[in-house]
Amino acid sequence: MVLRAEEVRRLIEATAKTVIAEADRLTALDQAIGDGDHGINMKRGFEAVLADLDGLAQKPLPDAVKSVGTHLVMKVGGASGPLYGTLFLTLGKELPAEFDRPAIAKAFDAAFAAVKARGKSDVGQKTMLDVLGPVRDALAYGVDNGWGDRIKQTANAAAEATVPMKAVRGRASFLGDRSIGHMDPGACSSALMIGAIVDCLESGAA
Ligand code: ADP
Ligand code: MG
Repeated sequence: MVLRAEEVRRLIEATAKTVIAEADRLTALDQAIGDGDHGINMKRGFEAVLADLDGLAQKPLPDAVKSVGTHLVMKVGGASGPLYGTLFLTLGKELPAEFDRPAIAKAFDAAFAAVKARGKSDVGQKTMLDVLGPVRDALAYGVDNGWGDRIKQTANAAAEATVPMKAVRGRASFLGDRSIGHMDPGACSSALMIGAIVDCLESGAA
């Protein structure tokens, strides 16, 4: 598929609004095992994205996705800003303007590798990678029918699966065993963004 300008606009707007609407929940999760700013950070970043919506919608999807990454790098801050910036910058760089599920899988694989390198982290450490990794796998080995729902379910289940994990990267790792029993904030924000993107693409109202 190729997204038209108004579809690019709706996709970015829906993703930004979903994160902003859930900012309090993300902050509450970060209050439990971090410093309580993840929702505030993400809201600031996506408000900058919304403010640039007219400009973003005029670009082909890959360039728009790259620009989202730039906004996130500049505005989110904390540990998550550079990591989500890297995710979207790499996705935009790797995604062709005309894409299908395998093309998304390839771009996402590169973006996941870039986030891992940037964070010096890996799956199993109770971070956003514990959602991005399973989603990468589901995209890579998926069949084309009904993949959207499967990706969303994978992301949500993967975020839930961070609850019993012990953090060994990021601020939450300072808590050691006390990080167990709470969902990782970055895993939650990743699942929210992926859910919003899939909903938008699937509704055909992208
Ligand atoms: P900070 O931890 O600087 O306050 P945020 O609260 O915005 O930044 O983001 C915290 C989230 O960032 C964590 O929940 C985790 O998912 C993610 N994170 C932190 N460090 C890393 C890392 N090295 N690799 C991958 N993800 C990380
Ligand atoms: Mg924080």
